[in-house]
Parts: sequence; structure tokens; C-alpha cells
Amino acid sequence: MTTRDHERAMDLIMRRGVEEITAADSAWLESHLSACSECAHYADDFDNTGRLLRAVAVTASPRLVASTQQRLRARALEMREQQTRMVLIAISFCIGAMSSAVSAWLWWKFGGWVAQWLGLRASIVAPGILVFLLLPAVVIAGLMLAFPNSVYESRLMAGLAREREGGNQ
Ligand SMILES: [Zn+2]
Repeated sequence: MTTRDHERAMDLIMRRGVEEITAADSAWLESHLSACSECAHYADDFDNTGRLLRAVAVTASPRLVASTQQRLRARALEMREQQTRMVLIAISFCIGAMSSAVSAWLWWKFGGWVAQWLGLRASIVAPGILVFLLLPAVVIAGLMLAFPNSVYESRLMAGLAREREGGNQ
């Protein structure tokens, strides 16, 4: 018997439980196993290991599968919550930038009139634009500091995340 015979035998032992092997291969393997104790021993070990693995997989499967799915689901929800939070932050930023522009534009348009009405000097109108550019950001920051949990409240986030999840299915 050559090394190639033993290699062929091991290859057939590994394949016979998984895929179809030809009758000729099967007959050759049987005759080799009856003549070669080393390969016969390997075949026994291989088959026993396979049975053991299958038995463990069957008993552990329902619980293992359920807990794995649960973990995956929790992780996916967590990631969606993070995405939703990023979207809300982006929306807040856009609202802030837009209200800055509107506020500065309003001051630029009507600041002179307001200054006159309040009896202030016209020279405050130009630097006043800076104040009105910053004012909305200051107001929004103040609101977020005052109500830190209302905007990014977890129930809202979870609801949004679930809605997105439902949309993806
Ligand atoms: Zn052999």
C-alpha cells in the first residue's frame, strides 16, 4: 500500500457522509479499510466525531439559535438607534443653520428700522448681524441643555428605529 492509497482512503472517509461517492470508490474504500488498520481506526474516529457533533448541534440548536438571533436583533436595533440619533443631530444642525440664516436676514432687512424704533444708533446694525447669526444656535443649545432627554429620548429613538426596521422588511 502506498501513501497515496491512505490519502485516497482519508479523502473518501471525509466525503462519504457529506456527498455521494461512486460504488467503485466505496468498494475500494471497504477493501482498503479491511486491510489497513490505521485507516480503519481513522474512519471510526471520524464517524464517531461526526455523530457526536451532530448530537451536540441538535440538542443545543433551538436555544443557541434563539439566543444568537436575539443578540443579533439587539445589536441591529442598537445600530439603527445610533443611525437615527445621527439623523436627528443632522436635522438639528440643519434647523440651526437655517434659523441662523433667517434670523440674520431678518435683522439685515429690518435691523435698521428696529434700531431706529428703539432709539439706538444705526452703527449697531452691522455688528448686530453677528448676534442674530449666533442667537438661534445659542437658543437651541440652551433648549437642549434645559431638556437634554426630550429630543434624544430613548422611547422616541426606539420607535423610530422600529419604524425603520419595519420599512426595511
Ligand atoms: Zn490506509
